[in-house]
Amino acid sequence: MENSNKLSKLKKLNEHKDKIKKENYITQLTRSEASIIFKLRTRMINIKNNFKNANKDIQCHRCQNGDENEKHIFEICEALKVTREQYKIKSYEEVFNNSTTIERLKTIANFIKDIKTEDF
Ligand SMILES: [Zn+2]
Repeated sequence: MENSNKLSKLKKLNEHKDKIKKENYITQLTRSEASIIFKLRTRMINIKNNFKNANKDIQCHRCQNGDENEKHIFEICEALKVTREQYKIKSYEEVFNNSTTIERLKTIANFIKDIKTEDF
């Protein structure tokens, strides 16, 4: 019992450290990069699926072949294939992954800037 208590405390401490580390990452991004990552994580990035009221038609405006959502942009859209390869973008999940490095977050933010979803 004693041991498992210690383990659980250690686990909590590590989780706390991870959280601090993650928050530090955010401060290492430029304002516009942090803004993009925040918008990506909260599904507020300017793509059709996130603004359904304004867009009754949510078909991707780039390829006209599928709903314009984050997964489509990050993993599927044929019109963005070359740009994705340029930035080595493979999955939307990377945006949320705890192990994603500051460099990767910067790269992801630059990918979003490059495909011009909105002005930052
Ligand atoms: Zn598309």
